Amino acid sequence: MLKTTDTEDLKFIQEAAEFSVIDNCGEHVHYRGLIEFSNICHLDCYYCGIRKSNSGVERFLLKEQEVVDLALWCADNGYGSIVLQSGERKDRKFVDSVIRMVKAIKKQSISEALPEGLGITLCVGEHPKDVYQEMYDAGAHRYLLRIESTNTEIFNTMHPDNQKLSERMECLTWLREIGFQVGTGVMFGIPGQTYDMLADDILFFKKRDIDMIGMGPYIVHKATPLPNDGNQFQVKGDDLVRLSLLMIAITRLVLKDVNIAATTALQTVDPQGREKGLMHGANIIMPQLTPTEQRAKYLLYEDKPCQDDTMEECKSCLGGRIRSVERIVAQNSWGDSKHALKRKHP
Ligand code: SAH
Repeated sequence: MLKTTDTEDLKFIQEAAEFSVIDNCGEHVHYRGLIEFSNICHLDCYYCGIRKSNSGVERFLLKEQEVVDLALWCADNGYGSIVLQSGERKDRKFVDSVIRMVKAIKKQSISEALPEGLGITLCVGEHPKDVYQEMYDAGAHRYLLRIESTNTEIFNTMHPDNQKLSERMECLTWLREIGFQVGTGVMFGIPGQTYDMLADDILFFKKRDIDMIGMGPYIVHKATPLPNDGNQFQVKGDDLVRLSLLMIAITRLVLKDVNIAATTALQTVDPQGREKGLMHGANIIMPQLTPTEQRAKYLLYEDKPCQDDTMEECKSCLGGRIRSVERIVAQNSWGDSKHALKRKHP
C-alpha cells in the first residue's frame, strides 16, 4: 500500500483511514500545547538542527516559571494537555528541573474544568528506568520517544556510534513497564530507507502496543551531516507528501485506535499538510507555545513553519484548519488514546 500512486487508489485509502479515525476515535481533534523549553542537547543525531556539534545555534533554557505560565495558558484556553519537549540531557540538574515543572503544572492547573489538572506528555529523551519512574510519579502520564527508524542500518546512518537503536528500544520497554502511555514514531525519506523498512516500522508500532504516533518526513537542515544528495529514498517533493500521508493512513488502518499527530514537519512539506494529515487519519495537533523569540533557536530542520506566530495566532489558525476538514476541537480533555484506555479498562 505504501507504494500506491494511482489517484483513485490513494483516494480509497484516504477515505478508509478517515472513516477509521472517526469510527475508532471520534470526530474530535485533541490539542497538545507544545513547549520546547530548551535546545541544549548532548546527542549528535546527524539530521537534527539542534545537535550538540552545531555550534551555530544559540542555546536557551526557559525559566521554570515561564514554562509553568505557558502551561497554565493552555489550561485557561481549554487545551487539556501539553507536551514538554527539549534536547536531551541526562544530568541530575535537568531531571530535577523537569520533575519540579511537572509537579508545579499538575498542581496549579487543577480547576473545575480540569479536575485532575493538565495531561502532561514528556518528550525529553533517553533516561535510566528509575528516572522515568520519577517523572511518572511526578505526574507525567505520557511519554514520547521516537525510535526514528527500527532498521538498524538506517538508524546507524542517522546517528553516531555511541547512540544505539537497542538502547532506545529498551527505553520504550521501560516506559511501558512503568505505566506511561507510550508514543513513538519514525522519519521517512532517510537516504537508503525503503518501503519495506517503513512497513516494518508500522508493524513495530503494532507489536510494541504503542499508544501514540508522531512521525514525519525528514527535512534537511544544512548545518547537519546527513546527506540529501537526490539519491535519497525513492521519493522527492510531492512524493514525500504522498508518502507522509500514506504512512499516517496505513498506520491508522493497522493500529486503529491510537492517537496520531498531524505534525509540523508535514506542514513544512505541504502548506495544507496538517489538514491533509487529519483527513488521512490523524487526530492530534500540537500548537506551538514556545515563545517566538526562542523558536528560531529550536530549528530541528529548515523552513519550520509558524516561526512568527504568537500562541494566540496558532490557536485561531489551527482551529480554522480543523473546522475546514469538518472536525471538532476537543476542549478541556486529556484526549488519551482509546487504545491506552482499553488497555487500562479492557
Ligand atoms: N530530544 C527529544 C526531542 C527531539 S525533537 C527526543 O528525542 O525525545 C523531536 C523529533 O523531531 C525527533 O524525534 C525527530 O524525529 C524530529 N526531527 C529532528 N530533526 C528532524 C529533521 N531534520 N527533519 C524532520 N524531523 C526531524
